[in-house]
Amino acid sequence: MKYCQYCSKSLILRIPDGDNRERYCCDSCGAITYENPKNVVGTLPAHENKLLLCKRAIEPRRGKWTLPAGFMENGETMLEGALRETKEEAGAEVIIKPDSLYTLFNLPSINQVYIFFRAELANLDFSPGVESEEVGLFSEADIPWSEIAFPVVKTTISNYFEDKRSEYFPVRMFDVHHHPERKVITEIISDSSSQSTDHN
Ligand SMILES: [Zn+2]
Repeated sequence: MKYCQYCSKSLILRIPDGDNRERYCCDSCGAITYENPKNVVGTLPAHENKLLLCKRAIEPRRGKWTLPAGFMENGETMLEGALRETKEEAGAEVIIKPDSLYTLFNLPSINQVYIFFRAELANLDFSPGVESEEVGLFSEADIPWSEIAFPVVKTTISNYFEDKRSEYFPVRMFDVHHHPERKVITEIISDSSSQSTDHN
């Protein structure tokens, strides 16, 4: 970020008065630009014992498989955004149940939060959108595990098939830390299934 979006003068990275971290400040018009994490929202579109995955037609991770997901837009809710992305990337209509919220990931290293919702395909009329090369249904045995685009997607899919055995899908939140040498560490922070056992 170099220029003020209001007056086009140069921005200076400094700690504003009364603040405690660096912001892009415009000393010409006084505007301060705050940068905050972005939400990425998506679904796990299920049909019988399979999940719908999209093969990415765009960078990053072009050619790798992922769940339909993307950045939330202003004016929409997380679920609305997830449904929009599912339609855009996989051409799929889905049915959402009241317990759809499934996994949350904090990625402080890249300033993103991922949220995935469980969904049922309303029909089998899916087709790749412009950001996908291909879309397809995969059973657990057919998932291309080594070709999954992002660790958050891999964690979400593997949790799903694990939970599918008992048809019980607790909500889980993870922290994901990106370390040097491209190492990614995923740590579980909250698990709604642990509530029931805490009372015993
Ligand atoms: Zn300005």
